Amino acid sequence: MTSSCRLIDSHAHLEELEDLASALERARQSGVVAIVAVGSDPASNRKVLEIAAKYRGFVYPAIGLHPGLLNDTASPIDDQIRFIEENLSDAVAIGEVGLDYHKRVVGVSSKDLQHRAFGAVLGLAKRYGKPVIVHSRYAWRDSFALAAEADVDKAVFHWYTGPTNVLKDILDRGYFVSATLAVEYHAEHRRAVREAPLDNLLLETDSPVVYQGHRSEPADVSRVLQATADLKGLDPEEVAERTTANAQRLFGLECRILDS
Ligand SMILES: [Zn+2]
Repeated sequence: MTSSCRLIDSHAHLEELEDLASALERARQSGVVAIVAVGSDPASNRKVLEIAAKYRGFVYPAIGLHPGLLNDTASPIDDQIRFIEENLSDAVAIGEVGLDYHKRVVGVSSKDLQHRAFGAVLGLAKRYGKPVIVHSRYAWRDSFALAAEADVDKAVFHWYTGPTNVLKDILDRGYFVSATLAVEYHAEHRRAVREAPLDNLLLETDSPVVYQGHRSEPADVSRVLQATADLKGLDPEEVAERTTANAQRLFGLECRILDS
């Protein structure tokens, strides 16, 4: 295997994949050496921790509370935040967390509630020195502002599609953005990936999100790599090496994955 194949999927919802074992095997075969599995709510956080324990050294867990899923009355926000804090030592990051101002989302999770939840987990990130994996759809400016106010050191604004001026603030602060399969076709995402320097870029799939009819899985990070390299006019091998090194550093992943 050449070094160009050594990829990290920095954001996947593994607990939502239908045949996880096969998907992980296909990922390995396509050069994926690590996956950051993100949680969205109490049930998925538990599953993510279980999956990571089962595939130790390949799957690394992040636990969070997705802005669109805050109104689970069975698990009040304070309980969810306590769960995250209690299990944080087993996780490489806090995520998926953030803000989402899509009308449908705000209808079920008010902006107030979203700010309260995001503020609380940013406090944990700061206190425990953990990176945050941020969902910021239509809330790019506020998401950045809250992270910066909380003085969080490490953050990735995943699948970034926001305006250039917010992107500039994200980059100036040393935060990251991540490219998904939408880099193949989505104008705003392509602009952001083009504008972000390699030093601030990660690759991901957000599996099993469906892109133009294709249900994604972690193996597709090789397609994200190719499209990103084409877009930036760079050698895929260089993009793979640099983005993998970024993910390793940001999430503190074991370095032995580069020596295998
Ligand atoms: Zn996601």
